[in-house]
Amino acid sequence: MSDQNPVFIPGPTNIPDRLRRAMMMQTRDHRAPDFVETLRPVLEQSKKVFGTKDGQIITFPASGTGGWEAAVTNTLSPGDKVLIARYGMFSHRWIDLCQRHGLDVQIIECDWGTGAPAAEFEKVLKADTTHAIKSVMVTHNETATGVLSDIGAVRRAMNAAGHPALLMVDAVSSLASVPFKMDDWGVDICVSGSQKGFMLTTGMAILAVSPKALAAMETAKLPRTFFDFRDMMKANATGGFPYTPPLQLIFGLKESLDMLFEEGLDNVYARHHRLAEGVRRAVAAWGLKLVAQSPDLYSDTVSAIYVPEGFNSNALTDHAFHAYGVSFGVGLGQMNGKAFRIGHLGMLTEVMVLSGLATIEMAMADLDYPVKLGSGVAAAQDYFRKSRADAVKSAA
Ligand SMILES: *Cc1c(COP(=O)(O)O)cnc(C)c1O
Repeated sequence: MSDQNPVFIPGPTNIPDRLRRAMMMQTRDHRAPDFVETLRPVLEQSKKVFGTKDGQIITFPASGTGGWEAAVTNTLSPGDKVLIARYGMFSHRWIDLCQRHGLDVQIIECDWGTGAPAAEFEKVLKADTTHAIKSVMVTHNETATGVLSDIGAVRRAMNAAGHPALLMVDAVSSLASVPFKMDDWGVDICVSGSQKGFMLTTGMAILAVSPKALAAMETAKLPRTFFDFRDMMKANATGGFPYTPPLQLIFGLKESLDMLFEEGLDNVYARHHRLAEGVRRAVAAWGLKLVAQSPDLYSDTVSAIYVPEGFNSNALTDHAFHAYGVSFGVGLGQMNGKAFRIGHLGMLTEVMVLSGLATIEMAMADLDYPVKLGSGVAAAQDYFRKSRADAVKSAA
């Protein structure tokens, strides 16, 4: 089967040839003097993507999950109370990680398909007059449901309650694809990873940490060794690493940042919005429904789509893979069997998106879905042509 078919899973994402080449390099000595010149600018440049000037970039050889663990263990102590809302598989996993670390997790249960409940947070935080809650944790883009939450609204809720808790945000499937404004939103730790918006192989957790979170680190008592911010920052300060760094990923990240800045971050975000909107037009043309409950929640990086009553989304994704060699995201957790996902983030063009829509249409037709062949593709084509014409007009 061809490995040229793109994947339409919401991470890991398709790797541009330019980044594959950047990562395909011979071993170098990470204790040699020239490593200093490699690492430091990469960390510095990454700040732009997070929207931070004050934050410190800290990376670990890990996936995004390791980034969560680093965020939690470096700033909290056993028994600390934290506030999290559960509205999908990833917010659920973050809750699980906190519980396994012995934190006292106050959970707000939300419908899957909704996002971070800022008003609920405000109520809980106002009632917490002793400031027992040490951190609010929010999944920016819930990859299981295709919901993007409003982090600015969460910050306003925390301010309205006058609550000093840290604000930690999982932006693994949103960073470098949709705007992130760490400083403006008062985010204390933002967790991301290499294999989604950065278009690299899996293997690096990338965090941005505020001065306030670094201050919390001084008294945090959860045990950490591999993920200790202090060891990493101390070594990074002289251009080094506390252990063997993922050299190929560091070089890959350097090239990835170059690509993102060459296109321009605003253009990257606009492209993601355009491609996502094309997918949403297709979904509407098919007569199917998104899991995300309202347009203000729609994610520009992934769409979760309910299959019609009586169909199994796993049979659809399996069939698309076996018949056409194309991967779409399966339904996770509560959504298993009920919804499939189209990932539309990272290195993606209109052409690629149209190929994905055409493929899933064929798979649905094969399985007797009540969907008209070509309907979704045509809706996306119409939208892409119109948005291009509008862009040309506004540039003239
Ligand atoms: C992919 C993802 C993660 C991290 O997953 P890893 O497999 O550990 O990299 C965390 N949160 C969200 C929202 C994600 O999409």
